Amino acid sequence: MQAIVFLGSGRWALQEVAEPRRTQPDDVLLEVERTGICGTDLHILSDPPKHPATPGSILGHEYVARVLECGANAKGLSARDRVVVDPNIPCGACDSCRQGRINMCQKMGTLGIFQNGGLARYNVAPARSLHKIALEVPPERAVLAEPLTCIYSAFEKAPANPGDSIVVLGAGPIGLMFVLLYRKMGAGTIVSVEPRELRRRVASDLGADVAIDFHSDSLIPEVRKILPSGADIVIDSVGTLIAAAVELVRPGGTVVLFGMVHGLTQTVSQYDLTRKELTIVGSFIQRNAFPKVTRLLQQKDFPVEKVVSHCLPLTGMGEALEAMRQGIALKVILNPANS
Ligand SMILES: [Zn+2]
Ligand SMILES: [Zn+2]
Repeated sequence: MQAIVFLGSGRWALQEVAEPRRTQPDDVLLEVERTGICGTDLHILSDPPKHPATPGSILGHEYVARVLECGANAKGLSARDRVVVDPNIPCGACDSCRQGRINMCQKMGTLGIFQNGGLARYNVAPARSLHKIALEVPPERAVLAEPLTCIYSAFEKAPANPGDSIVVLGAGPIGLMFVLLYRKMGAGTIVSVEPRELRRRVASDLGADVAIDFHSDSLIPEVRKILPSGADIVIDSVGTLIAAAVELVRPGGTVVLFGMVHGLTQTVSQYDLTRKELTIVGSFIQRNAFPKVTRLLQQKDFPVEKVVSHCLPLTGMGEALEAMRQGIALKVILNPANS
């Protein structure tokens, strides 16, 4: 079969590889329907890399698939089930795992990063990583389960009360999914802040009341016009905007730090954090959000597929990465069956 293989230090190739086989009793053979390309893939493929990965592995950690065959211990699954994949396989033995913080596992074995993932027609994954999803959910929506679990998990750490005001900094796929989720969960005014016009339009479409140009010199006063005492919750989906977030949040409010830029050190006013009694929440991947997110994706009034801008065959990987690097794409998904 054809697969997108990570070759090390910024290199990848579309290669012919052997079809995978089940080796463990809980292994499940999957036929991949769609696979999302993520900012993490761009980081893995930067030179020097901004995220580790195992050379020789098939990339793709966000995917929806059909079950073809189950091992004897693949409990609760059978052939023809449709599943979304939790790619993070915690070791179960390290200190973090033993304390229940499995998203902090020090030896995480992630499918599509450290083990073979979904950028190929077939994949083998352990049954415990798979979550059933209804056949009726469009593939462009189901494929977003993994990133959406990470956003859902952040939301649970900073839930909106009805009417709470929210500022979401950045309107890439992640920022846009934050807008949609907070809107769905009963937030009041939502302000999206984003330099690209296309993304601001999608943010408005997904429920932002106002979408402001980030380049605007008057960002802080513009948000203040809408939210004079600041927002109840400010989310940095980018990973570089903590200083703006601290300025935009109301006294006693919450700043959610979701985006990450490896190696970046930021300056922030510690005085303001104390004086405003802010709650600063970091949120990294997720632990148990898949069952909640699969239910959410099955609801008709949750049009998260609007964040998908491109659907390409595996041969479109180069085009996908280029469009993402240039910032002209939103979410790009590939269809490994169509190659
Ligand atoms: Zn991802
Ligand atoms: Zn562990």
